[in-house]
Amino acid sequence: MSASEISDDLFGPKAKPVKVLFPLPLFTAYDYLPPFESGAEIGRFVRAPFGPREIFGVIWPKGEADPAPAATLKTIVEILPGPGLSPELIDFIAWTARYTMSPLGSVLRMVMRSGEVLSEPSKQTGYVLGKNRPARMTPQREAVFSAVGPTPMTASTLAAKAGVSGGVVRGLAETDALRAVEIDPDPPFPPPDLSRKGHDLSDDQICAVGKISTHIKAGSHAAILIDGVTGSGKTEVYLEAVAEVLAKDKDAQALILIPEIALTLPFLKRVEERFGAAPAPWHSDLTSAARRRTWRRVADASARLVVGARSALFLPFQNLKLIIVDEEHDAAYKQGDGVIYHARDLSVARGARAGFPVVLASATPSLETVVNIDEGRYEAVGLPSRFAGATMPDISLIDMRETPAEQGRWLSPPLVDAVNQTLTAGEQSLLFLNRRGYAPLTLCRRCGHKMTAPNSDTMLVEHRFENRLVCHHTGFTMPKPSACPACHAVDSLAPCGPGVERVADEATARWPDAAIKILSSDTAWSASAMREILEAMHAGEIDILIATQVAAKGHHFPNLTLVGVVDADLGIAGGDLRAAERTYQLLSQVTGRAGRDVKPGRALLQTYQTTSPVLEALVSGERDNFLAVEAQSRKQLGFPPYGRLGAILLRGRDEQALRESAEAHRAAIPPADGVEVWGPAPAPIYRLRGEARIRFLVKARRNIDVQRFIKAWISRVKVKGSVRRVVDIDPYSFL
Ligand code: ADP
Repeated sequence: MSASEISDDLFGPKAKPVKVLFPLPLFTAYDYLPPFESGAEIGRFVRAPFGPREIFGVIWPKGEADPAPAATLKTIVEILPGPGLSPELIDFIAWTARYTMSPLGSVLRMVMRSGEVLSEPSKQTGYVLGKNRPARMTPQREAVFSAVGPTPMTASTLAAKAGVSGGVVRGLAETDALRAVEIDPDPPFPPPDLSRKGHDLSDDQICAVGKISTHIKAGSHAAILIDGVTGSGKTEVYLEAVAEVLAKDKDAQALILIPEIALTLPFLKRVEERFGAAPAPWHSDLTSAARRRTWRRVADASARLVVGARSALFLPFQNLKLIIVDEEHDAAYKQGDGVIYHARDLSVARGARAGFPVVLASATPSLETVVNIDEGRYEAVGLPSRFAGATMPDISLIDMRETPAEQGRWLSPPLVDAVNQTLTAGEQSLLFLNRRGYAPLTLCRRCGHKMTAPNSDTMLVEHRFENRLVCHHTGFTMPKPSACPACHAVDSLAPCGPGVERVADEATARWPDAAIKILSSDTAWSASAMREILEAMHAGEIDILIATQVAAKGHHFPNLTLVGVVDADLGIAGGDLRAAERTYQLLSQVTGRAGRDVKPGRALLQTYQTTSPVLEALVSGERDNFLAVEAQSRKQLGFPPYGRLGAILLRGRDEQALRESAEAHRAAIPPADGVEVWGPAPAPIYRLRGEARIRFLVKARRNIDVQRFIKAWISRVKVKGSVRRVVDIDPYSFL
């Protein structure tokens, strides 16, 4: 008989230690004693002492190589009621931590957040109509009676709706004219009505749905791309797949990822029309109450359909059975700090591990996805033409060497003519320039000094509306100075080059009677400001919209027939391996806004590089040829998707220490067949927020485990003092 069995006999059975993982940058879970014998199941949320505090964590599976727990252990304070994390999600968290080389606890933090979602929200009182009519009626009281509805509203909401003070509402409640009821602070989302039919599908759509459906029926994993031009009906197809998954299993949950918050509201509305119920939303613009509601309702599995940005992938789904990644090529799916991950790639990996289909949709699929299809790992279904016969826009180039814009202006005569014709026809134009602000560079005419952010090598961009200079990398802003900070010459700072605000100045001067608006993330800084402009554009109230890429994606403006790209060369020479691909995707999306309805559209691209393969492909519509050329050059260089990349960034304020650390890293590079390490090299933006930055790039053959190589390498070098090391697997940014 062992010692523990003896003590069990004498004092009753003793609870066995369990592992608890906390949402902190920790690589392992810790041993704790559960408060009771039962209930400490894996996945349950707990509150436990950690250092001087008590914090929320999760009971975690034991690892095979874990050492035996210590003799004296702290005890879990509380096991929270309600469902915890599903085994599928625990597996996904562990896999993500390994893949991204991040601490396990940091990945858990993406799921649990700081734990605020776990605290019981305070109850609220709401009001509905009561039994009595008040003896004395006043206009304010009348207003409350017309505002009150079947769904309980808090006193402040009801008062605001009626346009009266809260006192009027409370007064009515005292006389039983209103009845107080308890409001659920996290009301459940109404279930989707799965008996509702979508549109009658075209033959191509039926065929696409059929392919996805095969995997849904079989309950098997596949990554399937819906490949179709903008407006070909991809959304309609994947909503059918969502309907099928939710109908097949009454507990199933589905997730639709979309890249851009600006798209969420119209998209939520569309989903609501399809299913007769709004899905649960998830993005950074939600209030904390709305965020808690979605989180808790996903966790208790009552929210069956979630529409969200990339981080929605880390919501606590109980029974996730389908993920849709709309606009799968979009760079917004890459999260660049904290745990660095790509939500499309993680979605596919999650579906593969858990055995459910993942549907990708794009008009301009990423080369990664195209190669995965060519090599048989992903499937593809095509929607070759626009729905209901709407035609693709006619795309042509304007050679800026032959027909330049006038001095100090940005629109060439052919583009000006085209806008004139569009205005005459009573149709809308979109002038696209992917540059926020007034001018990308502010330069002293006297001494040539370039305005940069403090302690950074990033340019300050003039924003004329606010009369400020803004750094788009660090967020630093300052009022535009009246004198050059270097030579003190007064009024010598000159804007160089155009941003959307400057093009808008030109447009307003040329077309004083036209309704002109700017749309960019800083002229419409809130989701509602952006929505207003998008709705006005949709309703035909704007003649000329001057916009950055926020207008490029997803929107459907029926009367938009002209897209003018002010600088089609911007981005092509980006010096990063995906520059051409990204430019192609963006321009093809923005030109795809023209003529989406009955009226045919056209797009004019201003360029100095008429022979650029990207622009030639856009004009000829030969997307696949362009991709083939891109693929060939990546293959030759061994770049993704034909090879693997990992980046290591070292940063710190102490440059001497940073250089020493870079040298120590260089000296520790393990020799390995099929792996090249480039660097150390100063990062293109060397100084950022006062820190200097040095990069390494690991390039490996595709069959090599880059993570293992990097782990072996960095475990040989300790980072000391102020130096920080960031590992980025499959990097997208090289700045
Ligand atoms: P995509 O996602 O490829 O851009 P959408 O699914 O948004 O395309 O479809 C483009 C437009 O055509 C939308 O207004 C959509 O409602 C409409 N549409 C698509 N499929 C059908 C269909 N089968 N019947 C009627 N309208 C459809």
